[in-house]
Amino acid sequence: MNDILVLPLILYVPLAVFYLAVTVSAYRRKRLHQAADYFLIFYLALSFVEMLVLTLACLGILEIFIPPVKGNLPRYELLLLAGLFLNLSLLLFQKKGPGWTWLSLSLAWLLAVILLDINVFALPNVLWFGLPGGVYGIYRQHLSLVALLVGWGGLIIATGIFLRKTHRTARTVFIKNRVKYWAGALVVFSGGSLLIFFQIEQVGSLLLFLAALAIAYIVRTYRLPDLKVLAYKLISAALAGLLSLLLFTFGFLLGERLLGGYSWYQPVLSSVAMALMLLFSYNPLLEKTREIVQILTGEIYDRDRALREYSKSISSILEIDLLSTVAVGLISEALDLVGGALFLVDEMEVGVGASGWRLRGVKGMGDTLPNLDILTENNIFARIFAGEQRPLTQAEIELSPNFQTLPENVALWLHALDVEVFIPIHTQSEWVGLFALAPKHSGASYSHEDLELLETFADQTAVALQNARLVESLTRVNNEFRNAYAAMEAVHEKLERIERTKSDFISIASHELRTPLTVMNGYTQMLSSDDDLMENSYYAELIKGLLGGAERLHEIIESMLDVAKIDSRALELRTQPVSLDSVLQRIGRAFESDIHSRELSLVYEGLDDIPKIYGDPQSLEKVFSNLLSNAIKYTPNGGTITIGGRYIPTSAGLLEWEGVEIVVSDTGIGIDPHVQQEIFTRFYQSGDVSLHSSGKTKFKAGGAGLGLAVVQGVVEAHGGRVWVESLGRDEKNFPGSDFHIILPLRQPAYDADIFE
Ligand code: ADP
Repeated sequence: MNDILVLPLILYVPLAVFYLAVTVSAYRRKRLHQAADYFLIFYLALSFVEMLVLTLACLGILEIFIPPVKGNLPRYELLLLAGLFLNLSLLLFQKKGPGWTWLSLSLAWLLAVILLDINVFALPNVLWFGLPGGVYGIYRQHLSLVALLVGWGGLIIATGIFLRKTHRTARTVFIKNRVKYWAGALVVFSGGSLLIFFQIEQVGSLLLFLAALAIAYIVRTYRLPDLKVLAYKLISAALAGLLSLLLFTFGFLLGERLLGGYSWYQPVLSSVAMALMLLFSYNPLLEKTREIVQILTGEIYDRDRALREYSKSISSILEIDLLSTVAVGLISEALDLVGGALFLVDEMEVGVGASGWRLRGVKGMGDTLPNLDILTENNIFARIFAGEQRPLTQAEIELSPNFQTLPENVALWLHALDVEVFIPIHTQSEWVGLFALAPKHSGASYSHEDLELLETFADQTAVALQNARLVESLTRVNNEFRNAYAAMEAVHEKLERIERTKSDFISIASHELRTPLTVMNGYTQMLSSDDDLMENSYYAELIKGLLGGAERLHEIIESMLDVAKIDSRALELRTQPVSLDSVLQRIGRAFESDIHSRELSLVYEGLDDIPKIYGDPQSLEKVFSNLLSNAIKYTPNGGTITIGGRYIPTSAGLLEWEGVEIVVSDTGIGIDPHVQQEIFTRFYQSGDVSLHSSGKTKFKAGGAGLGLAVVQGVVEAHGGRVWVESLGRDEKNFPGSDFHIILPLRQPAYDADIFE
């Protein structure tokens, strides 16, 4: 083996091994359906082949196998690699299909070069061209090299033009940053290739290797560090290194100066001690240098101060809009952003057992902030924000295949926002908000540190956001309550108006009807006292009918007048001691014929024992005759009506004073519990109005609906109470009703002694 070739071998073999390792690792980590990954593997494998060829060339094995092409063999791959580079660029930045065109073109070109090399067309070794300045000759082998260079150069230039265009049209700084990285890789690749073309193969292949590593890194990584940040880091490291060196030298010299005179002083030991000291102080030194570099270049924000200020400012805000404005404002200021927005997230059911989220924009980068109506559980955004709870960058959205097919509403929403990064806001258990942040003013991309800071901001926002949302929903409930209350007030007022109209009507109608009725009554009386007429049975019947009708009308008008008086609180009681027993007996007798005709029985119980009360006998008569007539009306033939009474001492607690209780019970149809209070209001009718008949005591005869209103009015005017008890209305089983009336023995205006 030739001695000179050992050196390149030391380089090519490890490079080949590296390529192989990187290819295998890329293959194992490939993402299905992503063409760029396959092209990358292809690229790395081809680079491996390139190293293999160079190794074989060093070993002299190539000469045995393929003598005619051996000279250009390492360069063939360069053409293919350039084709692949262009293809990868298209894939990365256009997200189109694999784009075989360029690869096929480079393959065809390569084929032509190979044909030229093996001289299929049997061309002479030197080709002569007649040009205006004379005749020139070129070696056939050189011609193929030129062809290779032209093809390769064409591909590199095409890639360069494409990258320039992509950089100009890129919508986000992420993409621009990526293009910059990629362009760097292109420059290194081109340099390496050129060196190989001109046979400086060792350095060339080293550059190619660097380019391959860069390519693999860029294809595989979504979040590339900002180039500026990278530069800061490099400068800081260099400065820190320089400083360490200075410190070392200075320390060493100082040691020599101070201790050099002593016999035990050992320069070696002193330098080891210095080195150890520097070892421990290097990291803090580096940190400080980095900070200083960033402060000097105006790139740093004081992270802790920003955080403190942020939490102080937002913690007491309870209004969502304000919270959003302040939070987004402070974040934009801290990171020097163009703008940002806050979205509120509401979880909701979107089907059986499936949940989704609704995103409501609070403050926008523009005036209108689009809402995102439904983000279903299986959507990639929901998976990242709600599940993985991590930030999402625009670069990932544009480059990751997971985002290639988005539901239309999500795609539209995304398109309407110029967002560089999304930061979800989480409380312990739920996803409550989302920051959508625009690019930085400087155009620099978000660094890893930025994202970490933003996540801390988001954590601090969570509690404030939850409080503000709570207040928001409380305010909403409060408003709803206020509206409902206002509506209720309006209804109440309307009801009062109707009530007033009702009492006006009653009062006017009863007064207006009374006069003609009196006239009619007078004339009917006159007719009935005319013996000649009464002798004629036909006229007698007519007159009797007229008299009955007039009496019924009179009663109704009386009730109306009573109700009108009760309404206007003008009911006057002419009170005197009254024996309820005799009042009730009298009423019973008045209804005797009706009770008889309806085959009912009327029973009195315990009335003899009750004391006299102080009251208005006429009004009380109306009370009990209304109750008795109702009992008759609503009890079927054969039933029983019981009127019971008892004395109530003060100790019973039913009234302020001692009193009596009268209960009128029947075995009739009963009353529904939910109308038991309403029946005491004026005009209340529970039955069918069409069943009304003029008969006062027919079964379920119906009436004007005034009777119980008069009962209640009179009883309450006496300082008493009335209510009804019944199991319910049932026209088959007849549960019956019990009307309870409690009246005090005394009226406030009178003295107790009167009873003695
Ligand atoms: P009306 O003149 O229509 O009987 P009331 O004010 O006396 O008017 O009674 C109101 C309503 O109360 C009646 O329409 C009836 O439905 C119900 N009611 C009153 N008394 C009884 C009773 N003893 N049994 C069943 N229902 C009754």
